[in-house]
Amino acid sequence: MRRLTLLGATGSIGTSAADVITSTPNRFAVHAVTANSNGAKLAATARRLRARRAVVADEASFGVLRDDLFGSGISPGAGVGAMEDAAAEPVDMVLSAIVGAAGLRATAAAVQAGSAIALANKECLICAGSAFMALARRHNVRVLPVDSEHNALYQLIDGRDPVDIRAYTLTASGGPFRTWPAARIAEATPEQAVAHPTWSMGAKISVDSATLMNKGLELIEAHHLFALSPEKLDVLVHPQSVVHALITFRDGSVHAEMGPADMRRPIGYCLNWPERAREPVSTLDLAAVGKLDFEKPDAARFPALAIAMDALKRGAGAATVLNAANEIAVEAFLARKIPFNAIPQIVEIALTAAEAEGLLAEPDTIDEALTLDALARRIARADLKRRFAA
Ligand code: NAD
Ligand code: MG
Repeated sequence: MRRLTLLGATGSIGTSAADVITSTPNRFAVHAVTANSNGAKLAATARRLRARRAVVADEASFGVLRDDLFGSGISPGAGVGAMEDAAAEPVDMVLSAIVGAAGLRATAAAVQAGSAIALANKECLICAGSAFMALARRHNVRVLPVDSEHNALYQLIDGRDPVDIRAYTLTASGGPFRTWPAARIAEATPEQAVAHPTWSMGAKISVDSATLMNKGLELIEAHHLFALSPEKLDVLVHPQSVVHALITFRDGSVHAEMGPADMRRPIGYCLNWPERAREPVSTLDLAAVGKLDFEKPDAARFPALAIAMDALKRGAGAATVLNAANEIAVEAFLARKIPFNAIPQIVEIALTAAEAEGLLAEPDTIDEALTLDALARRIARADLKRRFAA
């Protein structure tokens, strides 16, 4: 039995992981599950997975969790410290599926404990990519990417010599506003932004997909995961979400990874690695899909992608600032405090301000990255207050 801990067990990825786990009996034993504040949902998840421990980060949610676990034999816990302690208990693999930089410390604690990581939480790599990957190397910990495009690249490059690969391409669905004119995008509502055409995901990543910031974050993620230079990375819009990534060899051959747009597939790949198991996903029916379209991303209507690419090229702390400002902007948009097109503006203004204040030095450690993250959040919040009274 493979022992697992799920961080962010109640979210979109966490719930898909629970499906994968319960669909292959006697394969996995769940040690701990964690969530932010939904004690009732976490208790139900812990019971479903027969976990030993369940921890909510929010202490005010402890009562509900404890009451709902009564009689189950599952030990309840609460508080950020308790969540990090649960992450630090060594298991075979930890699924890191908390949303945002909030997942960084717990994931780092799991790395320090020597557990392999199935990494969904991309923000921890954008916030502290160099420090996080160095920590994983130091502890000889394998980081398996759950993010579908990176999972595809992981499969594509397996056993390949990097000198033979000329380009690495991530596909993007283009999001719900792919065909919208700029004026309509500017006024998009949170409901429209989270209604993703091909993937079902949590609110934050859905908004990132609508701005295309998600693809920008994913370029930075790929850079850190696979040690790729920015020049070798590019993005292709592919509305059907059947091809997830491509690699181009120097002889001109192109290999693509395909599969149904269902996160249970890459999650199952990681949790079972290096074996493959039957996952609860439908078979890809290419005849039913009919045709596959590809187009270049439109930089004018989706400025976030270029802002992120620029942050990647600037390196150092730019990605940390980008991630923090984007989290603040997306939160404000979802709370209806700012319009949709203010999201990339807030990120760009935060990057300019951080640079002017000389804050873009490379964070060498996770603590340094989190310090810069906090400063960048303050800068973005000040901008929100000044320009939107939010
Ligand atoms: P979600 O919002 O559905 O779930 C987030 C989970 O994190 C929940 O369990 C929540 O309780 C927990 N959480 C939130 N804030 C927390 C905090 N401050 N402290 C502790 N726990 C907290 O998000 P999701 O869509 O499942 O995405 C999770 C991560 O996976 C994100 O980083 C996202 O970018 C990445 N990802 C998601 C998908 C997808 O299909 N949903 C695909 C690729 C990558
Ligand atoms: Mg992705």
